[in-house]
Amino acid sequence: MPFLTKAPRGTADQLPFAAAAYRFLEEQFTATAQAFGFGEIRTPVFEHTELFDRSVGETTDVVQKEMYTFTDNGGRSITLRPEGTAGVARAILEHGLTGEAMPLKLFYITSCYRYEKPQAGRLREFHQFGVEYFGSEDPSADVEVISLADTFLRSLGVENFQLKINSIGCPACRAEYHKALKAYFAAHIDDMCGNCHVRLEKNPMRLLDCKAPDCHAIADGAPSILDYLCDDCRAHFEEVKRQLQVVGIDYQVDPHIVRGLDYYTRTVFEFVSDALGAQSTVCGGGRYDGLIEQLGGKPLPALGFGMGEERLKLICDNLPTFVAPENTCDVYLIAADASAKDYILETTNVLRQNGIYAERDVCGRSVKAQMKHAGKIGAAFTVIIGENEMKSGVADLKNMQTGDTEPLELADLSYEIMDALDDYYLRKIEEMYPDPDDGEEAPGLTVLKGGKDK
Ligand code: ATP
Ligand code: MG
Repeated sequence: MPFLTKAPRGTADQLPFAAAAYRFLEEQFTATAQAFGFGEIRTPVFEHTELFDRSVGETTDVVQKEMYTFTDNGGRSITLRPEGTAGVARAILEHGLTGEAMPLKLFYITSCYRYEKPQAGRLREFHQFGVEYFGSEDPSADVEVISLADTFLRSLGVENFQLKINSIGCPACRAEYHKALKAYFAAHIDDMCGNCHVRLEKNPMRLLDCKAPDCHAIADGAPSILDYLCDDCRAHFEEVKRQLQVVGIDYQVDPHIVRGLDYYTRTVFEFVSDALGAQSTVCGGGRYDGLIEQLGGKPLPALGFGMGEERLKLICDNLPTFVAPENTCDVYLIAADASAKDYILETTNVLRQNGIYAERDVCGRSVKAQMKHAGKIGAAFTVIIGENEMKSGVADLKNMQTGDTEPLELADLSYEIMDALDDYYLRKIEEMYPDPDDGEEAPGLTVLKGGKDK
Protein backbone atom coordinates (compact mmCIF):
# COMPACT_ATOMS: atom_id res chain seq x y z
CA MET A 1 0.00 0.00 0.00
CA PRO A 2 2.38 2.73 -1.22
CA PHE A 3 -0.02 5.56 -0.34
CA LEU A 4 0.53 4.83 3.34
CA THR A 5 3.97 6.39 3.02
CA LYS A 6 2.90 9.25 0.79
CA ALA A 7 1.18 12.39 2.07
CA PRO A 8 -1.98 13.48 0.19
CA ARG A 9 -1.34 15.55 -2.95
CA GLY A 10 -0.90 19.24 -2.26
CA THR A 11 0.16 18.81 1.39
CA ALA A 12 3.67 19.18 2.76
CA ASP A 13 5.52 17.94 5.82
CA GLN A 14 7.91 20.44 7.38
CA LEU A 15 11.05 18.73 8.67
CA PRO A 16 12.95 20.41 11.53
CA PHE A 17 15.02 22.92 9.54
CA ALA A 18 12.09 24.16 7.47
CA ALA A 19 9.81 24.09 10.53
CA ALA A 20 12.29 26.34 12.37
CA ALA A 21 12.17 28.78 9.46
CA TYR A 22 8.35 28.81 9.56
CA ARG A 23 8.41 29.31 13.33
CA PHE A 24 10.73 32.26 12.85
CA LEU A 25 8.40 33.81 10.25
CA GLU A 26 5.47 33.29 12.62
CA GLU A 27 7.28 34.91 15.55
CA GLN A 28 8.29 37.83 13.38
CA PHE A 29 4.73 38.27 12.10
CA THR A 30 3.40 38.15 15.66
CA ALA A 31 5.90 40.82 16.76
CA THR A 32 4.98 43.12 13.85
CA ALA A 33 1.23 42.66 14.37
CA GLN A 34 1.63 43.40 18.08
CA ALA A 35 3.59 46.57 17.32
CA PHE A 36 0.56 47.70 15.29
CA GLY A 37 -1.73 46.87 18.22
CA PHE A 38 -3.29 43.64 16.93
CA GLY A 39 -4.33 40.78 19.25
CA GLU A 40 -4.28 37.15 18.18
CA ILE A 41 -7.46 35.22 17.37
CA ARG A 42 -7.76 31.47 16.77
CA THR A 43 -10.85 30.01 15.15
CA PRO A 44 -11.81 26.42 14.24
CA VAL A 45 -10.35 24.70 11.21
CA PHE A 46 -13.90 23.86 10.06
CA GLU A 47 -17.09 25.91 9.94
CA HIS A 48 -20.62 25.48 8.65
CA THR A 49 -20.45 25.48 4.84
CA GLU A 50 -23.07 28.25 4.64
CA LEU A 51 -20.63 30.69 6.28
CA PHE A 52 -18.29 30.52 3.30
CA ASP A 53 -21.12 30.45 0.73
CA ARG A 54 -22.45 33.63 2.30
CA SER A 55 -19.19 35.52 2.81
CA VAL A 56 -16.69 34.31 0.22
CA GLY A 57 -19.49 34.22 -2.34
CA GLU A 58 -21.23 31.49 -4.31
CA THR A 59 -19.87 32.54 -7.69
CA THR A 60 -16.21 32.54 -6.65
CA ASP A 61 -13.74 29.84 -7.71
CA VAL A 62 -13.13 29.11 -4.04
CA VAL A 63 -16.76 28.20 -3.31
CA GLN A 64 -17.53 26.65 -6.68
CA LYS A 65 -14.52 24.39 -7.06
CA GLU A 66 -12.02 24.57 -4.26
CA MET A 67 -13.71 23.86 -0.93
CA TYR A 68 -13.20 20.71 1.11
CA THR A 69 -16.80 20.08 2.09
CA PHE A 70 -18.26 17.01 3.75
CA THR A 71 -21.29 15.94 5.72
CA ASP A 72 -20.48 15.03 9.31
CA ASN A 73 -22.11 12.19 11.24
CA GLY A 74 -24.79 14.58 12.47
CA GLY A 75 -25.81 15.37 8.89
CA ARG A 76 -24.35 18.92 8.90
CA SER A 77 -22.51 20.31 5.91
CA ILE A 78 -19.03 21.23 7.13
CA THR A 79 -16.17 22.92 5.24
CA LEU A 80 -12.46 23.15 6.05
CA ARG A 81 -11.71 26.89 6.03
CA PRO A 82 -10.45 28.03 2.61
CA GLU A 83 -9.46 31.43 4.07
CA GLY A 84 -9.32 33.17 7.44
CA THR A 85 -11.68 36.14 7.28
CA ALA A 86 -15.07 34.38 7.39
CA GLY A 87 -14.30 32.52 10.63
CA VAL A 88 -13.03 35.69 12.34
CA ALA A 89 -16.10 37.65 11.22
CA ARG A 90 -18.34 34.87 12.55
CA ALA A 91 -16.42 34.79 15.85
CA ILE A 92 -16.66 38.53 16.53
CA LEU A 93 -20.42 38.39 15.92
CA GLU A 94 -20.81 35.30 18.10
CA HIS A 95 -18.87 36.87 20.99
CA GLY A 96 -20.38 40.33 20.69
CA LEU A 97 -17.01 41.99 20.00
CA THR A 98 -18.70 44.31 17.52
CA GLY A 99 -19.94 46.32 20.51
CA GLU A 100 -16.46 46.93 21.94
CA ALA A 101 -14.18 49.93 21.55
CA MET A 102 -13.22 50.43 17.92
CA PRO A 103 -11.10 49.84 16.01
CA LEU A 104 -10.96 46.13 16.79
CA LYS A 105 -7.67 44.75 15.52
CA LEU A 106 -7.07 41.00 15.23
CA PHE A 107 -4.40 38.83 13.61
CA TYR A 108 -4.19 35.13 12.92
CA ILE A 109 -1.77 32.49 11.69
CA THR A 110 -3.82 29.70 10.23
CA SER A 111 -3.98 26.69 7.92
CA CYS A 112 -6.28 26.92 4.86
CA TYR A 113 -7.63 24.25 2.54
CA ARG A 114 -8.39 24.58 -1.15
CA TYR A 115 -8.78 21.85 -3.74
CA GLU A 116 -6.47 23.35 -6.35
CA LYS A 117 -3.94 22.03 -8.83
CA PRO A 118 -0.75 21.78 -6.76
CA GLN A 119 2.36 23.52 -8.10
CA ALA A 120 5.16 25.67 -6.70
CA GLY A 121 3.56 28.11 -4.26
CA ARG A 122 0.13 26.48 -4.63
CA LEU A 123 -0.89 23.78 -2.19
CA ARG A 124 -4.12 22.17 -1.01
CA GLU A 125 -3.19 22.73 2.60
CA PHE A 126 -1.39 26.04 3.00
CA HIS A 127 -0.96 28.63 5.72
CA GLN A 128 -1.81 32.28 5.96
CA PHE A 129 -0.79 35.19 8.08
CA GLY A 130 -3.77 37.48 8.26
CA VAL A 131 -5.18 40.56 9.93
CA GLU A 132 -8.72 41.83 10.36
CA TYR A 133 -9.34 45.49 11.18
CA PHE A 134 -12.91 46.40 12.16
CA GLY A 135 -14.72 49.63 12.88
CA SER A 136 -13.11 52.30 10.72
CA GLU A 137 -14.23 53.46 7.31
CA ASP A 138 -11.42 55.99 7.22
CA PRO A 139 -8.62 55.68 4.63
CA SER A 140 -6.20 55.80 7.57
CA ALA A 141 -7.27 52.26 8.46
CA ASP A 142 -6.42 51.05 4.94
CA VAL A 143 -2.98 52.59 5.30
CA GLU A 144 -2.47 50.95 8.71
CA VAL A 145 -3.20 47.52 7.26
CA ILE A 146 -1.07 47.98 4.12
CA SER A 147 1.71 49.43 6.23
CA LEU A 148 1.67 46.41 8.55
CA ALA A 149 2.19 44.03 5.60
CA ASP A 150 4.93 46.28 4.20
CA THR A 151 6.70 46.55 7.58
CA PHE A 152 6.56 42.79 8.07
CA LEU A 153 8.07 42.04 4.65
CA ARG A 154 10.84 44.59 5.22
CA SER A 155 11.56 43.19 8.69
CA LEU A 156 12.46 39.92 6.94
CA GLY A 157 14.81 41.65 4.53
CA VAL A 158 12.32 41.29 1.62
CA GLU A 159 12.64 44.34 -0.60
CA ASN A 160 12.05 43.08 -4.09
CA PHE A 161 8.26 43.34 -4.16
CA GLN A 162 5.59 45.64 -5.56
CA LEU A 163 2.40 46.84 -3.97
CA LYS A 164 -0.51 47.02 -6.42
CA ILE A 165 -3.65 48.83 -5.36
CA ASN A 166 -7.07 49.52 -6.79
CA SER A 167 -10.49 50.63 -5.65
CA ILE A 168 -13.47 48.52 -6.65
CA GLY A 169 -15.97 51.05 -5.32
CA CYS A 170 -19.10 50.56 -3.26
CA PRO A 171 -22.39 48.91 -4.29
CA ALA A 172 -23.68 52.31 -5.45
CA CYS A 173 -20.95 53.10 -7.97
CA ARG A 174 -20.56 49.47 -8.91
CA ALA A 175 -24.10 49.25 -10.30
CA GLU A 176 -23.16 51.45 -13.28
CA TYR A 177 -19.85 49.65 -13.67
CA HIS A 178 -21.59 46.26 -13.74
CA LYS A 179 -23.75 47.49 -16.62
CA ALA A 180 -20.65 48.56 -18.56
CA LEU A 181 -18.90 45.28 -17.81
CA LYS A 182 -21.91 43.24 -18.86
CA ALA A 183 -22.18 45.11 -22.14
CA TYR A 184 -18.46 44.59 -22.84
CA PHE A 185 -18.32 40.91 -21.93
CA ALA A 186 -21.64 40.04 -23.60
CA ALA A 187 -19.96 40.91 -26.90
CA HIS A 188 -17.10 38.47 -26.17
CA ILE A 189 -18.83 35.75 -24.16
CA ASP A 190 -18.80 33.16 -26.97
CA ASP A 191 -14.99 33.03 -26.68
CA MET A 192 -15.02 32.64 -22.90
CA CYS A 193 -15.09 29.61 -20.59
CA GLY A 194 -18.22 27.98 -19.13
CA ASN A 195 -17.66 29.49 -15.69
CA CYS A 196 -17.54 32.96 -17.23
CA HIS A 197 -20.99 32.39 -18.76
CA VAL A 198 -22.32 31.95 -15.22
CA ARG A 199 -20.28 34.92 -13.94
CA LEU A 200 -21.75 37.19 -16.61
CA GLU A 201 -25.19 36.50 -15.19
CA LYS A 202 -24.42 36.42 -11.48
CA ASN A 203 -21.34 38.55 -10.78
CA PRO A 204 -19.72 40.30 -13.75
CA MET A 205 -16.70 41.58 -11.77
CA ARG A 206 -15.57 37.98 -11.34
CA LEU A 207 -15.03 37.96 -15.12
CA LEU A 208 -11.94 40.11 -14.55
CA ASP A 209 -10.45 37.47 -12.28
CA CYS A 210 -10.73 34.38 -14.52
CA LYS A 211 -7.41 32.56 -14.81
CA ALA A 212 -8.16 30.90 -18.21
CA PRO A 213 -5.76 32.51 -20.73
CA ASP A 214 -8.43 33.33 -23.36
CA CYS A 215 -10.71 34.92 -20.77
CA HIS A 216 -7.79 36.80 -19.27
CA ALA A 217 -6.90 38.35 -22.64
CA ILE A 218 -10.49 39.50 -23.13
CA ALA A 219 -10.61 40.90 -19.59
CA ASP A 220 -7.56 43.04 -20.38
CA GLY A 221 -9.69 45.23 -22.65
CA ALA A 222 -12.60 45.60 -20.20
CA PRO A 223 -13.73 49.00 -18.85
CA SER A 224 -11.89 50.21 -15.75
CA ILE A 225 -13.70 50.58 -12.43
CA LEU A 226 -11.68 53.72 -11.78
CA ASP A 227 -13.76 55.52 -14.42
CA TYR A 228 -16.94 54.67 -12.52
CA LEU A 229 -16.12 55.49 -8.88
CA CYS A 230 -18.61 57.74 -7.08
CA ASP A 231 -17.27 60.93 -5.45
CA ASP A 232 -16.97 59.34 -1.99
CA CYS A 233 -15.12 56.28 -3.24
CA ARG A 234 -12.84 58.39 -5.40
CA ALA A 235 -11.98 60.67 -2.46
CA HIS A 236 -11.37 57.63 -0.27
CA PHE A 237 -8.97 56.12 -2.79
CA GLU A 238 -7.14 59.43 -3.27
CA GLU A 239 -6.61 59.74 0.48
CA VAL A 240 -5.30 56.15 0.75
CA LYS A 241 -2.75 56.94 -1.96
CA ARG A 242 -1.81 60.25 -0.35
CA GLN A 243 -1.16 58.64 3.04
CA LEU A 244 0.87 55.84 1.43
CA GLN A 245 3.09 58.55 -0.03
CA VAL A 246 3.40 60.20 3.39
CA VAL A 247 4.61 56.95 4.92
CA GLY A 248 6.95 56.29 1.97
CA ILE A 249 5.27 53.15 0.60
CA ASP A 250 5.55 52.84 -3.19
CA TYR A 251 2.52 51.52 -5.06
CA GLN A 252 1.21 50.97 -8.55
CA VAL A 253 -2.46 51.48 -9.34
CA ASP A 254 -3.73 48.38 -11.17
CA PRO A 255 -7.41 48.63 -12.18
CA HIS A 256 -7.49 44.89 -12.92
CA ILE A 257 -7.13 43.80 -9.33
CA VAL A 258 -10.54 42.69 -8.09
CA ARG A 259 -9.46 39.95 -5.64
CA GLY A 260 -10.78 36.40 -5.73
CA LEU A 261 -13.42 36.66 -3.02
CA ASP A 262 -16.79 38.37 -3.21
CA TYR A 263 -16.79 40.44 -0.06
CA TYR A 264 -14.44 43.23 -1.13
CA THR A 265 -15.39 46.92 -1.45
CA ARG A 266 -13.30 50.02 -2.19
CA THR A 267 -9.56 49.45 -1.57
CA VAL A 268 -8.08 46.16 -2.78
CA PHE A 269 -4.38 45.44 -2.91
CA GLU A 270 -1.78 42.79 -3.63
CA PHE A 271 1.89 42.46 -2.82
CA VAL A 272 3.62 40.68 -5.70
CA SER A 273 7.17 39.41 -6.04
CA ASP A 274 9.14 38.35 -9.12
CA ALA A 275 10.82 35.72 -6.95
CA LEU A 276 7.62 33.67 -7.04
CA GLY A 277 7.23 32.93 -10.78
CA ALA A 278 3.63 32.25 -11.82
CA GLN A 279 2.22 32.41 -8.27
CA SER A 280 3.48 35.95 -7.86
CA THR A 281 1.03 37.20 -5.23
CA VAL A 282 2.36 36.82 -1.72
CA CYS A 283 -0.33 38.90 -0.02
CA GLY A 284 -3.84 39.91 -0.98
CA GLY A 285 -6.23 42.10 0.90
CA GLY A 286 -8.61 44.98 0.98
CA ARG A 287 -11.74 46.42 2.46
CA TYR A 288 -15.02 44.54 2.99
CA ASP A 289 -17.39 47.04 4.53
CA GLY A 290 -20.48 44.94 3.77
CA LEU A 291 -19.29 41.61 5.17
CA ILE A 292 -20.48 41.87 8.77
CA GLU A 293 -23.94 43.00 7.68
CA GLN A 294 -24.02 40.20 5.10
CA LEU A 295 -23.50 37.75 7.98
CA GLY A 296 -26.41 39.20 9.94
CA GLY A 297 -24.62 41.81 12.09
CA LYS A 298 -25.10 45.58 12.25
CA PRO A 299 -23.09 47.38 9.55
CA LEU A 300 -19.41 47.50 10.56
CA PRO A 301 -16.62 48.56 8.24
CA ALA A 302 -13.80 46.04 7.95
CA LEU A 303 -10.62 45.32 6.08
CA GLY A 304 -7.61 43.03 6.21
CA PHE A 305 -5.21 40.85 4.29
CA GLY A 306 -4.09 37.26 3.92
CA MET A 307 -0.45 36.48 3.26
CA GLY A 308 0.64 33.06 2.01
CA GLU A 309 3.20 31.67 4.44
CA GLU A 310 4.65 29.11 1.99
CA ARG A 311 5.06 31.74 -0.72
CA LEU A 312 6.73 34.07 1.77
CA LYS A 313 9.17 31.34 2.74
CA LEU A 314 10.02 30.76 -0.93
CA ILE A 315 10.99 34.43 -1.17
CA CYS A 316 13.01 34.35 2.06
CA ASP A 317 14.88 31.19 1.04
CA ASN A 318 16.79 33.40 -1.44
CA LEU A 319 17.67 35.98 1.22
CA PRO A 320 19.91 35.91 4.30
CA THR A 321 16.75 35.85 6.43
CA PHE A 322 17.54 32.40 7.75
CA VAL A 323 21.13 31.88 8.91
CA ALA A 324 22.51 28.44 9.66
CA PRO A 325 25.50 28.29 12.03
CA GLU A 326 27.74 25.21 12.39
CA ASN A 327 26.74 23.96 15.80
CA THR A 328 23.61 22.35 17.00
CA CYS A 329 24.17 20.45 20.26
CA ASP A 330 25.78 22.52 23.04
CA VAL A 331 27.38 19.74 25.05
CA TYR A 332 27.55 15.94 24.86
CA LEU A 333 28.19 14.11 28.15
CA ILE A 334 30.00 10.91 27.26
CA ALA A 335 29.85 7.91 29.62
CA ALA A 336 33.25 6.14 29.71
CA ASP A 337 31.70 3.26 31.63
CA ALA A 338 28.54 2.29 33.52
CA SER A 339 29.63 3.99 36.79
CA ALA A 340 28.96 7.52 35.43
CA LYS A 341 25.61 6.77 33.79
CA ASP A 342 23.29 8.06 36.52
CA TYR A 343 25.48 11.09 37.15
CA ILE A 344 25.30 11.92 33.43
CA LEU A 345 21.54 11.39 33.40
CA GLU A 346 21.11 13.83 36.30
CA THR A 347 23.49 16.42 34.87
CA THR A 348 22.01 16.44 31.33
CA ASN A 349 18.62 16.91 32.95
CA VAL A 350 19.78 19.92 34.98
CA LEU A 351 21.41 21.45 31.89
CA ARG A 352 18.23 20.96 29.85
CA GLN A 353 16.15 22.54 32.61
CA ASN A 354 18.42 25.56 32.13
CA GLY A 355 17.79 25.68 28.39
CA ILE A 356 21.06 24.06 27.33
CA TYR A 357 20.90 21.49 24.52
CA ALA A 358 22.72 18.70 26.38
CA GLU A 359 22.97 15.20 24.95
CA ARG A 360 23.90 11.77 26.29
CA ASP A 361 24.07 8.29 24.84
CA VAL A 362 20.86 6.23 24.93
CA CYS A 363 21.97 3.49 22.53
CA GLY A 364 24.68 1.72 24.55
CA ARG A 365 27.46 3.07 22.33
CA SER A 366 31.18 2.68 23.04
CA VAL A 367 33.16 5.81 24.02
CA LYS A 368 34.53 6.04 20.47
CA ALA A 369 31.05 5.73 18.98
CA GLN A 370 29.68 8.35 21.41
CA MET A 371 32.48 10.71 20.33
CA LYS A 372 31.57 10.11 16.69
CA HIS A 373 27.90 10.72 17.41
CA ALA A 374 28.77 13.96 19.24
CA GLY A 375 30.63 15.09 16.11
CA LYS A 376 27.73 14.12 13.89
CA ILE A 377 25.19 16.21 15.79
CA GLY A 378 27.65 19.11 15.89
CA ALA A 379 28.25 19.21 19.66
CA ALA A 380 30.21 22.34 20.63
CA PHE A 381 31.68 20.59 23.69
CA THR A 382 32.09 17.06 25.02
CA VAL A 383 32.90 15.80 28.52
CA ILE A 384 34.04 12.21 29.06
CA ILE A 385 33.10 10.90 32.52
CA GLY A 386 33.94 7.45 33.90
CA GLU A 387 35.23 5.76 37.04
CA ASN A 388 38.45 7.86 37.14
CA GLU A 389 36.62 11.18 36.87
CA MET A 390 34.02 10.11 39.43
CA LYS A 391 36.87 9.34 41.87
CA SER A 392 38.97 12.47 41.21
CA GLY A 393 35.95 14.74 41.00
CA VAL A 394 37.36 16.44 37.90
CA ALA A 395 36.59 15.97 34.18
CA ASP A 396 37.84 17.65 31.01
CA LEU A 397 35.54 19.83 28.92
CA LYS A 398 36.66 19.60 25.31
CA ASN A 399 35.98 22.27 22.72
CA MET A 400 35.23 20.16 19.65
CA GLN A 401 36.33 22.82 17.20
CA THR A 402 39.73 23.70 18.66
CA GLY A 403 40.42 20.49 20.60
CA ASP A 404 41.26 22.63 23.69
CA THR A 405 40.34 21.14 27.04
CA GLU A 406 39.73 22.66 30.46
CA PRO A 407 39.25 20.78 33.75
CA LEU A 408 35.89 21.20 35.47
CA GLU A 409 34.79 20.24 39.01
CA LEU A 410 32.14 17.50 38.88
CA ALA A 411 30.61 18.85 42.09
CA ASP A 412 29.50 21.91 40.15
CA LEU A 413 29.57 20.53 36.63
CA SER A 414 26.32 21.89 35.18
CA TYR A 415 27.10 25.48 36.31
CA GLU A 416 30.70 25.25 35.07
CA ILE A 417 29.45 24.00 31.69
CA MET A 418 26.97 26.89 31.51
CA ASP A 419 29.76 29.38 32.27
CA ALA A 420 31.95 27.84 29.59
CA LEU A 421 29.08 28.01 27.08
CA ASP A 422 28.46 31.68 27.94
CA ASP A 423 32.11 32.51 27.18
CA TYR A 424 32.06 30.39 24.05
CA TYR A 425 28.97 32.04 22.51
CA LEU A 426 30.11 35.51 23.53
CA ARG A 427 33.42 34.94 21.73
CA LYS A 428 31.53 33.68 18.66
CA ILE A 429 29.40 36.81 18.54
CA GLU A 430 32.53 38.98 18.89
CA GLU A 431 34.16 37.08 16.02
CA MET A 432 31.06 37.57 13.83
CA TYR A 433 30.70 41.29 14.66
CA PRO A 434 34.18 42.50 15.62
CA ASP A 435 33.10 46.05 16.40
CA PRO A 436 29.41 46.49 17.16
CA ASP A 437 29.77 50.29 17.09
CA ASP A 438 31.17 50.58 13.58
CA GLY A 439 27.69 50.82 12.11
CA GLU A 440 27.68 47.39 10.50
CA GLU A 441 24.30 45.76 10.90
CA ALA A 442 23.95 42.16 12.00
CA PRO A 443 23.06 40.10 8.91
CA GLY A 444 20.04 37.81 9.09
CA LEU A 445 17.49 37.91 11.80
CA THR A 446 17.66 34.59 13.47
CA VAL A 447 20.05 31.80 14.10
CA LEU A 448 18.63 28.50 12.95
CA LYS A 449 20.48 25.47 14.17
CA GLY A 450 21.52 22.72 11.81
CA GLY A 451 21.74 22.54 8.04
CA LYS A 452 19.12 21.82 5.43
CA ASP A 453 16.51 19.12 5.79
CA LYS A 454 17.33 16.05 3.70
P1 ATP B 1 -4.16 33.21 -6.22
O1 ATP B 1 -4.58 34.26 -7.19
O2 ATP B 1 -2.69 33.00 -6.18
O3 ATP B 1 -4.96 31.95 -6.36
P2 ATP B 1 -5.98 34.10 -4.21
O4 ATP B 1 -6.53 35.36 -4.75
O5 ATP B 1 -6.80 32.86 -4.35
O6 ATP B 1 -4.51 33.82 -4.78
P3 ATP B 1 -6.29 34.88 -1.45
O7 ATP B 1 -7.55 34.15 -1.27
O8 ATP B 1 -6.30 36.33 -1.49
O9 ATP B 1 -5.50 34.29 -2.71
O10 ATP B 1 -5.24 34.39 -0.34
C1 ATP B 1 -4.21 35.24 0.15
C2 ATP B 1 -2.84 34.65 -0.08
O11 ATP B 1 -2.80 33.29 0.30
C3 ATP B 1 -2.41 34.63 -1.54
O12 ATP B 1 -1.90 35.87 -1.91
C4 ATP B 1 -1.34 33.57 -1.52
O13 ATP B 1 -0.11 34.09 -1.06
C5 ATP B 1 -1.87 32.60 -0.52
N1 ATP B 1 -2.53 31.47 -1.20
C6 ATP B 1 -3.77 31.42 -1.76
N2 ATP B 1 -4.04 30.21 -2.24
C7 ATP B 1 -2.94 29.44 -1.99
C8 ATP B 1 -2.60 28.08 -2.24
N3 ATP B 1 -3.44 27.25 -2.82
N4 ATP B 1 -1.37 27.64 -1.83
C9 ATP B 1 -0.50 28.47 -1.21
N5 ATP B 1 -0.77 29.76 -0.94
C10 ATP B 1 -1.97 30.25 -1.34
MG1 MG C 1 -6.78 31.30 -5.69
